[in-house]
Amino acid sequence: MLSLQKAPMLPHALTLARKKLGQYAQCLLPLSCLLCQQGIATGLVCHTCYQDLKQTYPHCLRCGLPLPTTESMCGQCVRTPPKFTKLHACGLFEPPLNQLVYHLKYQKQTTYSCVLGQLMAERIHTHAAESVTINLPQALIPVPLHPRKERQRGFNQAQLIAEHCAKTLAIPWHSHWVKRVKNTTSQTQLNIKQRKRNMHQAFKVAALPAQLDHVAIIDDIVTTGATINSLCKGLQKAGVKQIEIWCICRTPTTRP
Ligand SMILES: [Zn+2]
Ligand SMILES: [Zn+2]
Repeated sequence: MLSLQKAPMLPHALTLARKKLGQYAQCLLPLSCLLCQQGIATGLVCHTCYQDLKQTYPHCLRCGLPLPTTESMCGQCVRTPPKFTKLHACGLFEPPLNQLVYHLKYQKQTTYSCVLGQLMAERIHTHAAESVTINLPQALIPVPLHPRKERQRGFNQAQLIAEHCAKTLAIPWHSHWVKRVKNTTSQTQLNIKQRKRNMHQAFKVAALPAQLDHVAIIDDIVTTGATINSLCKGLQKAGVKQIEIWCICRTPTTRP
């Protein structure tokens, strides 16, 4: 236990330790809650903030879109089932969840990936506990960034989330199975049709292990599903039969 006299030295000491040990040390050496700045003994966010991050909302059991009724599937999934078997989202693109994603992605706060990865693992764990027939995937595949974009950002946020989630669930993750071969423009301002065109043949899937037939694609935000749809096509072509989508935020728009 640190004495009160030594306390003022703590932030400096931790900053140095973090610099030396890299992002994993940041997961282990928190100063205060990342969201409310309240002092905490363990973890990265305080208990209250962590509970706020665990959102539940009525949704389509297949694609994760919010549903106004108690129906289990949205009309679109009934009419045209998506290429993936199920989408698990930690919540909608709303505060405080989207703030964590924003800090990770645009302010390069890679520490946030620890919380998001843990949150995702907990979401899957809860679902597994509620279900009698759940099979966890054989591997996690983070949505790749184009190498140029990854160099600019310095990291791939989906990969960081996948790493932490995989570690918690004891599932391997692989980033070399899928490459992004098209340096696509930002999809933020594009409509559904344009996003679909933008993502056409954006990924190249490597030769996969013969016994691989069940994977989960990891992404931070799923909006229209144009990105995951394109990736699903590639993986299905390569022989993967069951593809789940695990994402942090699901935005309430219709898929292509
Ligand atoms: Zn807090
Ligand atoms: Zn649906």
